[in-house]
Formats: sequence, structure tokens, C-alpha cells
Amino acid sequence: FLPHLIASLQQVDQTYIMVKPDGVQRGLVGEIISRFEKKGFKLTGLKLFQCSKELAEGAGACQKENLHRRAHNGRGAKLYFARVNLEKDSNVDSIEHYKDLKQKSFFPKLIDYITSGPVVCMAWEGVGVVASARKLIGATDPLQAEPGTIRGDLAVQTGRNVVHGSDSPENGKREIALWFKEGELCEWTPVQAPWLRE
Ligand code: GDP
Ligand code: MG
Repeated sequence: FLPHLIASLQQVDQTYIMVKPDGVQRGLVGEIISRFEKKGFKLTGLKLFQCSKELAEGAGACQKENLHRRAHNGRGAKLYFARVNLEKDSNVDSIEHYKDLKQKSFFPKLIDYITSGPVVCMAWEGVGVVASARKLIGATDPLQAEPGTIRGDLAVQTGRNVVHGSDSPENGKREIALWFKEGELCEWTPVQAPWLRE
């Protein structure tokens, strides 16, 4: 029982952290990355990424419509396929990412917000990283977030709360797979590893 408990406590998890467009626009990227870096988690993926705005909603339907339009326009099939791939790459993520919130009244505003400028996508790894990152980020409403947390220190409104963090190890894996392509993540051992965990 005890070895099993210890092993489960030491389970290495991954979380998806994203600096939202307001964080990028306000020059908070370094500050936000720094909080996770200083804590001692391991960065395994990092990129600046722009979800395109006009096609964010109902991306699937949009793509089908394009097929018809392009076919009637007499444009080549090759062009169509190239365009679909581009749309898929740049749009589907934010819809799929927030699919659990699709029924909420603020969903359109949320998609608008998240596609309004570049975001910084990050994958972080470590024992207990998912729950710990949520604590470092603070409550969804920045006015309720404790001082010392990212949202508590750097934001004033739910609709502009500067950062995202996965809410479970399962969603951590799901979201990293959604925002990163194969080959974009790095496996490495930080030199400080033995100074962080005995
Ligand atoms: P989180 O896990 O703390 O980010 O919160 P949720 O998963 O509940 O919501 C996802 C994101 O949707 C939040 O971070 C906000 O950006 C946005 N959001 C949640 N609730 C509201 C709301 O009532 N109004 C607006 N405008 N945005 C909201
Ligand atoms: Mg959430």
C-alpha cells in the first residue's frame, strides 16, 4: 500500500498554460512564464500563436461552405484542400479547447477574446503541476483571486484574466495535444532537477 501511495503521489503530470491575448498585449508574457519557471516546474513546449478571428465560430460548417463556393467558382481542388488545412490549424483549437463552455451565454465573447490577438501556448511538467498551476494562477474572477497569484496581482476582470491553466491531468494532456503538434514538445532534464526534488 505504502509504495503504491508514494508512487501515485509522485505521478508526473502535464498542464497546458496559455497567456491570453490581453497578457500578450500588456507585456506580461515574461512575468507569467517566470512564475512557473521560478516555482520549479519544467517547460516542455512554448510558442506564440494566433487563432484567426473571422472563422473561429462553427469552423466545421465554414469549411464545408468553402468547398461549395470554391467548387462553383471553378477553382482547383488542390487550392481547396490547402485552405481547409490552414483553417483547421488556426481556428479549431479555441472552439474545441472551450467546448465544455459552449452553452454559456459568454461563449461568443470568450471566443472573440481568445482569438483577438496572439496567445502564448505552454506545456509544463512536474509532480502535482496541474493543481499547483491553478493555485499560482488564482480564481477565475481576478477580483476574488488572492494577492500573490497571477490573476490576483495582474488582472481585474473575468473577461480579461490574462492566463489559462488546465483543470485536471486528463485535460492537461488533451489541451497540450490540441494546441501543440507532434515534434513541438521537448524532452529534457534541467540541470537543477536534483536541487528541486530529493
Ligand atoms: P478558468 O478555468 O478559471 O479559466 O475558468 P472557466 O473554465 O470557468 O472559464 C474559462 C474562461 O472563460 C475564463 O478564464 C474566462 O476567461 C471566461 N469566463 C468564465 N466565466 C465568464 C463570464 O462570466 N464572463 C466572461 N466574459 N467570461 C467568462
Ligand atoms: Mg477552466
